[in-house]
Amino acid sequence: MGKAKLSFFGLGYVGTVYSAGFASKGFKVTGFDTDKDKLKMLDKGAPPIHEPGLEELMRECKAKGTLRITDNPDDAVSNSDITFITVGTPSKEDGSIDLKHVVEASNTIGGALKGKGAWHLIVVKSTVTPGTTEKIVRRTVEKASGKKTPEDYGLAVNPEFLREGSAIEDFMKPDRIIIGANDEKSRKMLEEIYSEFDCPKILTNPKTAELIKYVNNAFLAMKVSFINMIANLCQEIPGCDVDVVARGIGLDRRIGEQFLRAGAGWGGSCLPKDLKALKNFSRKIGVNLPLIEATLKINDKQPLTMIKLTKKKIGNLKNRRVAVLGLSFKPDTDDMREAVSIKIVNKLIDEGAEVTVYDPAAMKNAKKIFQEKVIYAPSTIECLKDAECALIVTEWSEFKELTPEDFIEHMKNPVVIDGRRIFNPETYASKLEFEAIGLRAE
Ligand code: NAD
Repeated sequence: MGKAKLSFFGLGYVGTVYSAGFASKGFKVTGFDTDKDKLKMLDKGAPPIHEPGLEELMRECKAKGTLRITDNPDDAVSNSDITFITVGTPSKEDGSIDLKHVVEASNTIGGALKGKGAWHLIVVKSTVTPGTTEKIVRRTVEKASGKKTPEDYGLAVNPEFLREGSAIEDFMKPDRIIIGANDEKSRKMLEEIYSEFDCPKILTNPKTAELIKYVNNAFLAMKVSFINMIANLCQEIPGCDVDVVARGIGLDRRIGEQFLRAGAGWGGSCLPKDLKALKNFSRKIGVNLPLIEATLKINDKQPLTMIKLTKKKIGNLKNRRVAVLGLSFKPDTDDMREAVSIKIVNKLIDEGAEVTVYDPAAMKNAKKIFQEKVIYAPSTIECLKDAECALIVTEWSEFKELTPEDFIEHMKNPVVIDGRRIFNPETYASKLEFEAIGLRAE
């Protein structure tokens, strides 16, 4: 039997990377999305998102003829054996998971399955709370298709762990693959398409697979909030530096060095919404998760530490020009969903500051958020010009290359607040006014 044919419903970060990734491995892939503008871009071979290596990968697949984009969901389902649901699962106002896209996609796939004779596998890759696949997805697909699982179609969960900014590498070399399925045929089919991925595979039921994704993100967020809490402690002890503390504990193999970088807080498209969804889901079933609640609370306040340090250095912010370097929630992405820069910039504006911003990739997205409220600089240096204080909010590599002299030469008043610990504190503090998260000079 040849390789299974795949389709993806939802061509955002996960769907685009996976479509191109599998297509590059010789699978015939069809991608579908409800966003017509995205489809037009993708059809031309242009990824709708900034992700290193993605454009080249898409070009390669186009040349091979393995990746096809369609605006017709029936075409995507009828020309594939497996459909992955990769739509977004945002938060509702109360923090609970909003399943509207998952339901809509399940309904469309179910409708398309109605006219299909062959058995078909549906895989939920979107992050969903435990029980969603077996209850909501199943009910919706069965209502729309008139079919029953596992006789007529299969249902499985295959959560995703890729990191924006290194998504292709994460697709090619995952740490592990989680396959949640109740029936043998679905499980085998997924095992088969992942057979050339050399990593541990955890075979479990759909609910456990769904839960693993949330617990994974909760643990990562907790680790960062933990070190941010310690950073705030270090800031009050003269001579203490959280970076040294983090290294001191990170070398303990039971702890590990990753996700121990103190900073202005965590954001992004996943951690905030997933922690809120887990908290909300658990409450509904009568379980409190105090560590998760503390993790969220610490993170809520952390961006404001940047304002505190700014005021410590330059005092009242009214009519003072402040440069914000970095807006995306992390480097190498243009994604600004729940980026801490939003809280920081808005607070600076509230305090009356004149804010200039620059990000190597996220300016287009930033304009949608801040509109006319800030000055958009075309480069790092332009952003610094005439500023009285510069805040490092995202650790883009081009900011790491800056020297104290760059700040001294271009700013009205060279004051730097390092919110991502990218600069050597000794070098900087000896040449200009410098503060950093988790650091208190003697
Ligand atoms: P995204 O918002 O970038 O993309 C979702 C896409 O789905 C959009 O293009 C949207 O137009 C499309 N869509 C919405 N409704 C649709 C429908 N009915 N049919 C077809 N397409 C539809 O989302 P994303 O960041 O790729 O995340 C997708 C899922 O994967 C989420 O559940 C997320 O939590 C999870 N996830 C994301 C990441 C990440 O780094 N972005 C990592 C792991 C897991």
